[in-house]
Amino acid sequence: MDAIEADALVLFGATGDLAFRKIFPALQALVARQGFALPVVGVARSGWSLEALRERLAASIDAHGDRTDRAAADRLSGLLRYVDGDYREAGTYRRLRQALGAARHPLHYLAVPPSLFPTVIEGIGDSGCAAGARVVVEKPFGRDLASAQALNRAAHRVFAEPSIFRIDHYLGKESVQNLLFFRFANAFLEPLWNRDHVEAIHVTMAEAFGVEGRGRFYEEVGAIRDVIQNHLLQVVAHLAMEPPVGEGAEALRDEKVKVFRGIRPLAVADVVRGQYAGYRAEDGVAPDSQVETFAALRLHLDSWRWAGVPIVLRAGKRLASTATEVQVFLKRPPQQVFGEAVPPQSNYFRFRLGPDRMAIAIGARTKRSGAGMVGEDVELLVCNERGLQMGAYERLIGDAARGDPTLFAREDGVEAAWRIVDPVLAAPAPLHPYAPGSWGPAEADALALASGGWRAPHRG
Ligand code: NDP
Repeated sequence: MDAIEADALVLFGATGDLAFRKIFPALQALVARQGFALPVVGVARSGWSLEALRERLAASIDAHGDRTDRAAADRLSGLLRYVDGDYREAGTYRRLRQALGAARHPLHYLAVPPSLFPTVIEGIGDSGCAAGARVVVEKPFGRDLASAQALNRAAHRVFAEPSIFRIDHYLGKESVQNLLFFRFANAFLEPLWNRDHVEAIHVTMAEAFGVEGRGRFYEEVGAIRDVIQNHLLQVVAHLAMEPPVGEGAEALRDEKVKVFRGIRPLAVADVVRGQYAGYRAEDGVAPDSQVETFAALRLHLDSWRWAGVPIVLRAGKRLASTATEVQVFLKRPPQQVFGEAVPPQSNYFRFRLGPDRMAIAIGARTKRSGAGMVGEDVELLVCNERGLQMGAYERLIGDAARGDPTLFAREDGVEAAWRIVDPVLAAPAPLHPYAPGSWGPAEADALALASGGWRAPHRG
């Protein structure tokens, strides 16, 4: 049965940073490309008017949207409504119910501080705004396993699981969806995609920039909570999962959960944490902060397909470049036919996930032109420029409005992912300083040594 389409979008946190940088521009794109025409009810407590919110929308489009498409911006502006009020007061939700008018299937988007998720969900429920509705919950969904479980319980008191859409914007990225597509739309990959042929899987998510004024926020999270528990583990699930059995969102989400369940909870010996020099001087950061701005880790995935294959991840700020890349290295040929030892890491699949473009490459060895039988490394490459892609928030908000949960995290998946990182959040690994512009602390090298060492994301 097709899901019911939403008939209004309620944006809690309409005056906030996320709405400004991501949500309004995504809504503009939805209006322009998908004919989005739902009323958008902004809710915040700034004492603003509808006019003030419209000005904020215009500034958001100027800074982050499509400035050339005034028509879509104006149409979106015409869809806006505004409800002012504190999320801790019942009157706010009564006014929201009035503003929703005849809408019976609102989509509530919680772009609010995580501490307010349960409060807002309860307010929506108590006011009757949850009937027939769906809710989108921003990240982070909890800060460890216990808090994620508590948040799931709070959400389930008001919404049934099929009506809860937990955002991980990585799932909305074209490049991340393409991991699945490339794997399962090409039969040639499957025979290679296992422990018999894959030497190791490396994933790097590098940012050349630091916390950019969000030090106070970052102090509460650190790299493991911010990007590894969610984004990078989702990437691993896409790489490691079995083909879904049957169609639909649940078949796919079932397979991802199995991957998370197969990954052993992390031991301290499998984790290296780092902090860039200068982080403690950032605004909002404690002078003795122990928060990691870099983490590298080695996963053990106990499945028939992947047993024993090193899967190493690293993510960090103020690194040598900004790039997210997956490298799947294949085993070397068993014999030297041409009198040369094939260098390690010559055969691989490389997936560039962002930020500026997406690419899929196959690394191979070919004969260098000339008299001898001498090899050289080449890449077969397909690259999509960003302009062709639908933005992650555009994709996810559109899917949530249509009731398609495929690209959202499910309760059991979120909890299984927290279970992996929980031990090293409770008892963290030592923290090592590293120089800005480097690839993190040297201690991280050991984690990838057995699989040929870390390889920097491709430049091209
Ligand atoms: P902000 O602090 O910028 O915005 C919070 C919003 O919530 C504001 O609109 C604020 O209204 C409103 N608000 C806060 N408390 C209350 C209250 N008691 N009653 C009514 N309104 C209230 O947060 P962000 O936009 O940065 O983040 C929102 C969510 O999105 C968070 O969960 C965050 O983790 C997540 N997120 C943010 C990202 C980002 O880049 N910013 C990236 C990924 C996820 P007012 O201004 O009137 O106080």
